Amino acid sequence: MKPFVYCPACASRLEEPNSEGGSRCPNCGRSWYRNSAPTVTAAIVDGERVLVAIRAFAPKKGKADTPGGFLMPGEPPLDGLRREIREELGIEIAVSFEDFVQGVPHTYGDEGDWVLSLGFRARPLSGELEPADDVADARWVTYSELEDLDWAWPHDRELAKIALRGTSTEHVGE
Ligand SMILES: [Zn+2]
Repeated sequence: MKPFVYCPACASRLEEPNSEGGSRCPNCGRSWYRNSAPTVTAAIVDGERVLVAIRAFAPKKGKADTPGGFLMPGEPPLDGLRREIREELGIEIAVSFEDFVQGVPHTYGDEGDWVLSLGFRARPLSGELEPADDVADARWVTYSELEDLDWAWPHDRELAKIALRGTSTEHVGE
């Protein structure tokens, strides 16, 4: 991920990045760091099946993922996850931090920006499945069908597997 060239606050040209990757602004004095942007995603499990979404837009258009999205500034992770699932699929989910499965850093999009994907196991609570326009399709699949899907990111497939199995046999992330 390329460092900032101009100050996001005052648009002055930044100094060269220091050894920690921070770029200081000579005008307003702030230092800017490039961090992974947090995303949240859920493997929503109902009995023997897990809910998989097909992406309608780039990046990875047409590929499968577990639904979720970016947190808004200041938004707690589980609130953001419930919001994303509500917006994308029209359903409410039950999820807690005890359902945390994995945290996986990966690059996202053509610019190679880093994101940190926080993956949870969840279960549906209420609502009718009604995919929004950023979801091309949403389908319930069984464990044996997970390998046949064309996944956007392998860690989403692992999340779905772990969520369905109930235990982790393969350690992903920390
Ligand atoms: Zn500045």
